Order: sequence, then C-alpha cells, then structure tokens
Amino acid sequence: MNDVLDKLKIAYNTWNPSVGNKAIVSENNQKLPDDVLEVIVIPHSHNDPGWKKTYQQYYEDQTRQILSLIVEKLHEYPDMTFIWVESCFLDTWWANQTADTQQKFRSLVKSGRLEITSGMWVAPDEASPHYFALLDQMIEGHYWVKKNLGVVPESSLNFDQFGYSTTMPYLVKKAGLKNVLIKRIHRAVKELFGSENKLNFHWRQLWDPDGKDDIFAHVDTYEWMSISDSCGPNREICNKLDFLNERDLPMADAPKAPAPPGARVNAGSRNMHAFTQMLVEQFRLKNANYKYKVMMLPHGGDFRYDTPFEWDKQYRNLKRFMKYVNDNTKLYNVKMRFGTLKDYFYEIERQNMKYDIKYPTVTGDFFTYTENTEYWTGYFTTRQFDKRLGREVLESLRAAEMFTSLAFTCDIPSDVRKEMIAGLVIARKNLGIFQHHDAITGTSQEHVAKDYEELLTIAFSKTQRSNVTKNSA
Ligand SMILES: [Zn+2]
Repeated sequence: MNDVLDKLKIAYNTWNPSVGNKAIVSENNQKLPDDVLEVIVIPHSHNDPGWKKTYQQYYEDQTRQILSLIVEKLHEYPDMTFIWVESCFLDTWWANQTADTQQKFRSLVKSGRLEITSGMWVAPDEASPHYFALLDQMIEGHYWVKKNLGVVPESSLNFDQFGYSTTMPYLVKKAGLKNVLIKRIHRAVKELFGSENKLNFHWRQLWDPDGKDDIFAHVDTYEWMSISDSCGPNREICNKLDFLNERDLPMADAPKAPAPPGARVNAGSRNMHAFTQMLVEQFRLKNANYKYKVMMLPHGGDFRYDTPFEWDKQYRNLKRFMKYVNDNTKLYNVKMRFGTLKDYFYEIERQNMKYDIKYPTVTGDFFTYTENTEYWTGYFTTRQFDKRLGREVLESLRAAEMFTSLAFTCDIPSDVRKEMIAGLVIARKNLGIFQHHDAITGTSQEHVAKDYEELLTIAFSKTQRSNVTKNSA
C-alpha cells in the first residue's frame, strides 16, 4: 500500500459527489469469452448496535422485527435469500423466540438461503480497538453462531467500517474464514485499483513472504452500501431497484424481443425493456471493474426490510424484473438470481478455475478513509474518555478471565462457578458491543455514547466482582 499511496493523484475538484459515483472502468480488463453475466441479488439489512439510537432502542424499534420477518418471509418466499452480520442482535432476539422459530431460523441457515456473514459480535471498527478486543468479540460471536446455528462463517462482510486494518484479515483467516469483502476505502485508491483491475487481490501480511496467511479480498465498487450504489455508477438508475419507493413493475408477460418501432405493444412490457436496458448497462459498467462474469447486487441498507410491506414489495418486483431478464437472456446476455455472499464467492472461484484468472497480492492497510472530500481521521482520537474506559475494561476482563481459570482448578461450589461465568459473559458481550464501528469510534449520538459508557461500567463491575468472588472462593 505504501507504493500505491506514493503514486496517487487526487483530483477532487473535477468531480461533484452529489452527482453519483464515478464509473471506474479498467482498460486492462482481461478479455473473457462473451459469456452470460450472472447477477446475484443479495438482500441484506445493516443493523448498527447503536448509532442514532441505542442498541436496545434499535432492537425494539426495528431489528427485532427484521429478524422475525427473515424467518416468516424466507419461508413464504422459498427462492429468496438473506444475509446477516451482527451476532449480538441474534443473541438478544434468540432468547425471546420459541423453539419452533429457532428451529426455522436454523434450518434457513443450514439450507444456505440465510448466510451468517462475518458472524462476529459486531462489525467492529478496525482503527481504534486493541487487537485482543477484536479477537474477543470475534470469539464471542463465532461461539454463539456455532453453538446455536451449528455453522462456521465463511465470508466476512465489512460494508461500513471507516477504513480497514491489515490485522483483521489475518484474524479472520485464522478463524477459518475464506474471503473478505471491504468497501469504504480512500476514493482515489479505489479508483486506482479499479483502473488497474485490482479490486480483487490476495491480502498478504508484511511478515509473510510465502503467503500462507493470504486471504482473498474483494473491494466492492462505489461508495455506499445502499441500493443507490449497488448496480452501477448512476445512483438515480440504481435507486429504481428500490421498490419500497418505486411503483410496481408491470405484471404483463414480457415480450421475447423489443418491439420494432411503431408496433402496438403492451405499454408495460415496453417499459420493462427500457427499464432493463438501462439497468443492464449499469451492470456492465460495474462488472467491467472485475475479471470475471459475475456481479453481486447488494439489495438493502441501514435497517432495511423491517416491515412486511417492504419485504413483499421488494420481493414481488425483484422477481418480476429477474423473470423478465431471465426470459430474455439471449437479448441482454444477463442471468439473475437471489443468492448470498457465499454464493457470490463460490461463483468467482468457479470462474477462476474455468478461465485461469490470476490476482495481484496487496500488503498493508486501508487507512485513511475518505468520503467525498473529507478525511476520516477525527475518530481516531474523539471521545477519549470512552476509548480509555474501553481499555480499562479490556484489561480488567483479561485479568478476571485468567484468575477465573486458575480459581476453577480449586474446589468451588457450582453456584459460585455459574455466577463467575455469567459475570464474565456479560462483560465480554458489553465490551464486544463497544467495538462496533459507531461505538469506540465516537461517531454515535451523545445519548448513545452515554449508553455505551453504562454498558462498559456494568462490564467493569462484573469483572471486578469476578475477581473478588475468586478471592473469597
Ligand atoms: Zn454501520
């Protein structure tokens, strides 16, 4: 990355961010046979454990419904898929579900239609936390996923972190994950990587010349995780796929080919052709950044899919659109289907084998992040009291864990053991939430920051109590 940063040419003044994303098209794109472009639609919902609302407020107001609707709607729509990231919300929701609902959720995960991506306690910031706190929240999350759902996450989805450290891919590789997806990196780096066809690479550690800890990395094009930035560079066109805010697509059967000029055709069908042409052009611009003929179309955003109305409207219209495209594959040279992040990486791997595609190696991190013309450096040092408190809790937790392990070699009554473990679990979970990318960063609102302080204070008192309990045991 040092070499890359040295040769960056940044020309923000030539570009107006309100217009949308720049089309990054590589001139060096490997020429593949004119195969059909496969577009994988990945419905998702980004749930911050605190930002404008507290963790609990988000859970009560939206996340609880989203998780319940995943179970209800994926059973109603048997070809639909979904992905989920944050284990902390799963834990809170799970405790309030019947055994039947839990089993339904588990079966969706087992079937592959619901993928737990990352599976950590939160989607952590990667600049401010101590590495051990990152590891601890990862263990807590992965342990939860394994224990309750019986799976190990395969891909790491990092849509919203403000830059990416080189330590995190190392930790996730050691945890058994195979791929990482990142998104929010320096705009000029993304444009440069796009122009050089490097938006996929093997992410390597500096001390590892042989690449034994390499992990396959995917940089998602464009700036935001919302539907506006999902299909191609033009936000206005991509937003036409956000059917929550758009009119329903026509139901009429699609014609097999566009009508000749002047022909009398069903107005709805004709609109479908124009609609599809417009979107397929965006798909091709996005896919031109990559070396293969598969494209992910993330479909969601912050706390999306939180009402039955949204699920029904998005599904109904995505199905109509996909059916039209698939009925006319010869015309558009595109196929579409629902899928998960794992499906996307599987297809990339398949095409890598088929076309013998090679990727470059990259070492280093992706700091500092820029959005529009702003450098996101302020959060490294804001809310210093909270950052310090988080370190104090981490230190105390580590000591409590070690003393507890030692104490358990002695004869301790089972009720005392249970109490000690329960205290440590609460401390780990609260400290885990604090690693979230709007918590330790200080980017949440004031009342939310206060809530994090309370969670950390509870965590601290639990670890101290655990130490005292040990001493008296
Ligand atoms: Zn977020």
